[in-house]
Amino acid sequence: TENLYDFLLPAAPERASAPVLLTETGETWTRGRIEELTGRIAALLLETGVRPGDRVAAQVEKSAAAVCLYLACLKAGAVYLPLNTAYPVPELAHFLGDSEPALIVKGADYAEIPAVAAHLPSFTLRPDGTGSLVDAASALEPLAASAPRDADDLAAILYTSGTTGRSKGAMITHGNLAFMADALRSAWDIRESDVMLHALPVFHAHGLFIALNTMLLAGGRMHFLSKFTADVVLERLPASTVFMGVPTFYTRLLADPRLDREVCRNVRLFVSGSAPLSVPTFEAFLARTGQSILERYASTETTVITTNPLHGERVPGTVGYALPGVSVGIIDKAGQPLPAGEVGEIALKGPNVFKGYWRLPEATAKEFTADGYFRSGDLGRMEPDGRVSIVGRDKDLIISGGYNVYPGEVEAVLARIEGVADCAVIGLPHADFGEGVVAVVERQGGRTDLTAEAILAGLAGQLAKYKVPKAVVLRDSMPRNAMGKIQKNELRRLHADALG
Ligand code: ATP
Repeated sequence: TENLYDFLLPAAPERASAPVLLTETGETWTRGRIEELTGRIAALLLETGVRPGDRVAAQVEKSAAAVCLYLACLKAGAVYLPLNTAYPVPELAHFLGDSEPALIVKGADYAEIPAVAAHLPSFTLRPDGTGSLVDAASALEPLAASAPRDADDLAAILYTSGTTGRSKGAMITHGNLAFMADALRSAWDIRESDVMLHALPVFHAHGLFIALNTMLLAGGRMHFLSKFTADVVLERLPASTVFMGVPTFYTRLLADPRLDREVCRNVRLFVSGSAPLSVPTFEAFLARTGQSILERYASTETTVITTNPLHGERVPGTVGYALPGVSVGIIDKAGQPLPAGEVGEIALKGPNVFKGYWRLPEATAKEFTADGYFRSGDLGRMEPDGRVSIVGRDKDLIISGGYNVYPGEVEAVLARIEGVADCAVIGLPHADFGEGVVAVVERQGGRTDLTAEAILAGLAGQLAKYKVPKAVVLRDSMPRNAMGKIQKNELRRLHADALG
């Protein structure tokens, strides 16, 4: 059997006392404790009537018990369906109606279950590990053997963030995740001696598959924080060797004067992903801590696609080379490969590529080329040595007066202007040009002197005329999703009249 559970946690009674999760409240979850609660929850799932292949929806806060619920789904052969705790009832109704789970687990604070799912069995799981799920599971004997699963069977369905449209359920298999955990363990040399600082949410591929699975496989430990706060992260960093985050984690750490070399002295690897890491952030982090952040590129449908090297130069503004075992190319609209240096859509093939969108065979087919490459929806270019740079998403490409403007190119120049905390370049309808380039700039706290004129002056001479923003919108904060990603569709809506 190719059940991911047995791959991540093969039977190893001698490791029962090994610490795996160190919580914020000072609790240690050993491997034995995790295996035991996982086994009991798996038994409960089966007793409740969940069959292999059935979906189990979980809208719960991050906790050690929530990790056991995820592992129990794998063990019982169910398909784990994590849901962002921020989803309000109407959105939840869409996900539950679409995925038709056999069971729902809710954090007690999110007790409202939409009408479409009101008939389903449900349990509660609070952040402190209490609730009806653990109560009922505790009365059962742990399930001994995991359900037989093939590499091609579903392990999870993750709804995409929906930053560019309606969320689709990405079907991820046991084989996809086994490959990924193994590939990342070797690419980043993650070991049993590593201690990861885990501050990411676990309803998303980054925190769940890229960070958690890889660490479980390597047999290391994690400071398992319920969420990112600079205070707790700075307190635990000295006792950590690996940190994985989204770019906003790094900008928030940089905003804290306590971040210095000393705090990072034991960290051997800082990884960033989920959104572009700006060159100034990379440089400021290097100057302050002596550490080069390793940027990698991933998506829900594929997990990691490319990564900067562990050994070798990490070039800011690039996302590195194809992960070993994954074939990456740049293609044109017709799906034909483009030569090195040319901008096109990033496409890939490999054991990491998902099985398709849940109940959307047509949408799935559209995302693959005739020779089976998955179209990422991201635009980028590849250097002759295979290094990839991302210039923006296909859907965010701006066509102004017939010229292509890649938002990433303009954002990279804007980010260098003193006082710019973050920025997003969007296209808005323009009477003459079809679309006009608009820069939305988040100012660093208190920088009211940074005006639109000053920003345009800062861009002077650095961009071809057609790429220069026709308007600059100043904001004190950006609309972001749960991963800290700027929501450009929201910016286009909020600033629809920026070009008059
Ligand atoms: P949706 O696809 O529903 O609009 P989403 O793309 O935000 O949502 P995710 O799968 O979480 O959902 O994000 C994947 C995307 O994140 C990639 O396609 C890419 O655009 C972006 N991304 C990830 N890592 C990087 C990176 N290092 N640099 C730039 N962009 C990145």
